[in-house]
Amino acid sequence: MKSLTILGSTGSIGRSTLDVVRLHPEQFEVHALTARRSVDVLLEQCLRFKPRYAVLEDHEAARRLDAELRRHRSPTEVLAGPAALLEVAQAPQVRMVMAAIVGAAGLEPTLAAARAGKRVLLANKESLVVAGELLLQALREGGGELLPIDSEHSAVLQSLPEQRERWASDVRSITLTASGGPFRQRDPAELRDITPDQACAHPNWSMGRKISVDSATMMNKALEVIEAHYLFGMPAAAIEVLIHPQSIVHSMVTYHDGSVVAQLGVPDMRTPIAYGLAWPRRIASGSSWLDLARVGTLQFEAPDERRFPALGLAYAALGMAGGACAVLNAANEVAVQAFLEGALAFTDIHRVNAHTLESLGGERAHDLGALLELDSRARSAAAARARALAR
Ligand code: NDP
Repeated sequence: MKSLTILGSTGSIGRSTLDVVRLHPEQFEVHALTARRSVDVLLEQCLRFKPRYAVLEDHEAARRLDAELRRHRSPTEVLAGPAALLEVAQAPQVRMVMAAIVGAAGLEPTLAAARAGKRVLLANKESLVVAGELLLQALREGGGELLPIDSEHSAVLQSLPEQRERWASDVRSITLTASGGPFRQRDPAELRDITPDQACAHPNWSMGRKISVDSATMMNKALEVIEAHYLFGMPAAAIEVLIHPQSIVHSMVTYHDGSVVAQLGVPDMRTPIAYGLAWPRRIASGSSWLDLARVGTLQFEAPDERRFPALGLAYAALGMAGGACAVLNAANEVAVQAFLEGALAFTDIHRVNAHTLESLGGERAHDLGALLELDSRARSAAAARARALAR
């Protein structure tokens, strides 16, 4: 029986993780479930999965959850605040931690899980983007494992040689596929007036709102290029992006002998989640089967830099000083939030990101304190830029 903490259990990835866990009650038990303030969903999850702890970031929400759980005579104990998140991420009895909080808010509990030697199932790509070196160091010190949950990085891991020492010698490049999101064929001149609901209507994947906007701007792929650099130790020049609208080929690895190895499947996050939970074995995920005869055609095209300028920012950030990726991530979180609140035009998300990266991308930050300070300065700079561009 493997004990699991799910950070961000009420979100899209958190709920899909519980879907997989529910299929294997003999293999997994839930130690803790956490959320920011979604009391109703967390209550339902607690009653069903009976975790030892439920954690809410918001204290008032935690009081409400506690009252509801007592009414249902639930044994689950409610904790609140950021320190409680760290506690359930590093608890000795926990074997695996699903890091599925959205944004840089997921960084500190993910680092704590890594330092405590857990298997970290990393959906929260932002923590690797903000503090890639620190997270890898924490894993080395803690002796834990890092398994990517992003479908593209899970596909790359599944396509790489099992022996890590062959990654550098045998692999020529990796190719991350991208659906191109909802605006792949729109005239770039028409993108300015896109609404949040239009941006969140992804053609293939059902996801949280922040990552849905990131998919529409392609910033999601930009963050994934940075994530791949840290996860697989690949230089930026060996990481390519290819548009593949059907989202069936989840990514691929090109070897020096000319072979290309890819992982395919229907677009369903339960597959990479099940792979991470059971690795190196395979278990049922609940996903449907791929029927290639029905899919018929798989298309591929190079990304259009004019339509998706975000992609260039990832390569620029990887070529800059140690804190540039954190700056880019912070700017993007602020810009996406402003867009979702109706305060910033869709196309201005890129302008905020590019401007903030240009102003602060040269700053170095090698420890957590310096990174968090830089993250905060980047947020202020991005917010000021967003206000200047506000509609
Ligand atoms: P959602 O917005 O659906 O869920 C986010 C979760 O994090 C919720 O449980 C939310 O709680 C919690 N949360 C948000 N802010 C805080 C905070 N400040 N402190 C503590 N908890 C917080 O996001 P997704 O599930 O879509 O994405 C999660 C991560 O996984 C992201 O990093 C995303 O990039 C990545 N990812 C997602 C994929 C997908 O298919 N959705 C695919 C690949 C990667 P509450 O409900 O209370 O707000």
